[in-house]
Amino acid sequence: MKALVKKEAAKGIWMEQVPVPTPGPNEVLIKLEKTAICGTDLHIYKWDEWSQRTIKPGLVIGHEFVGRIVDMGPGVTDYQLGDRVSAEGHIVCGHCRNCRAGRQHLCPNTVGIGVNRDGAFAEYIVMPAKNLWPIPDQIPSELAAFFDPYGNAAHCALEFDVIGEDVLITGAGPIGIIAAGICKHVGARNVVITDVNDYRLKLAADMGATRVVNVAKQSLKEVMKDLHMEGFDVALEMSGHPGAFNDMLDCMYHGGKIALLGILPNGAGINWDKVIFKGLTLHGIYGRRMYETWYKMTQMLLTGFPLQKVLTHQIHIDDFQKGFELMESGHCGKVVCSWN
Ligand code: NAD
Ligand code: ZN
Repeated sequence: MKALVKKEAAKGIWMEQVPVPTPGPNEVLIKLEKTAICGTDLHIYKWDEWSQRTIKPGLVIGHEFVGRIVDMGPGVTDYQLGDRVSAEGHIVCGHCRNCRAGRQHLCPNTVGIGVNRDGAFAEYIVMPAKNLWPIPDQIPSELAAFFDPYGNAAHCALEFDVIGEDVLITGAGPIGIIAAGICKHVGARNVVITDVNDYRLKLAADMGATRVVNVAKQSLKEVMKDLHMEGFDVALEMSGHPGAFNDMLDCMYHGGKIALLGILPNGAGINWDKVIFKGLTLHGIYGRRMYETWYKMTQMLLTGFPLQKVLTHQIHIDDFQKGFELMESGHCGKVVCSWN
């Protein structure tokens, strides 16, 4: 089968022929319909410091997908051949304390598809049946393809109560844009989002953000004064940029709560005085809650959440190079690739 493989320890990604995987007990074989390019895939493409540390060349990359079940190993119940599914890409151990206590998103033995084992940029992928998420007929495949980052946004945006609150989001990447939409969807008061990329800030405005701020041109403090705000009640860090995180600490209201999703560089310094004397709560977010986040995502979409507004490009997988270049340029929201 065709698959996008990190063939060499260098910048790039290669379309290769690899064997079709076989489903074992309690696993299914999925024929991919659509996959989406994630920032993580871009890191692997660029072969940055993190991917050099993490990725073994020869890996099939990709973890955002939707497809149909075409084969099942022994022991799979509750699914039929032909069912359209996405899946939780974090495969957990099932026997650690957190798994057994129902906190699977905190399993220390998590294995990620497309990072620690072969992923979804391929004609077929094998997944454990317990990771599958069936997609209702009303949801089109081009949106089901990126439930994974939609889930990162939903997990982060719904971790603290935002109803009636003033929310700051730093970073208008695809995840920040979706999170802005979710905060408005569930009833936040002001949702202010920052970036240095006007193309992406425009998408965030279309998604319903109250104010978009290009921090290269305008100060966040000015915007707060304009909105008659003393500080933000809740904040979502979605840029991975230390400068953005420090501005956030500066603009929080006393007692504010911060959910951290963006991956900050090792050793990034922050002003601890702001955390301590303002009594802030800092909370790291990883992945999605299994499977409460998946339930909420599906239901929000079925009740009118406009996820399609972040989908800017649909391409054929044979044009993958163009897709990665688009992602690298930052002039895109989600880029979805078709395998048909
Ligand atoms: P992305 O890289 O597409 O978006 C980050 C955005 O931050 C970009 O648009 C960039 O222009 C912007 N930015 C850069 N400097 C900024 C500044 N000073 N102020 C404000 N914005 C600035 O990433 P994404 O796919 O939307 O993901 C968001 C973050 O979450 C990334 O850091 C990603 O690695 C991380 N992530 C974490 C998890 C998790 O489980 N914790 C999962 C997925 C992604
Ligand atoms: Zn576990």
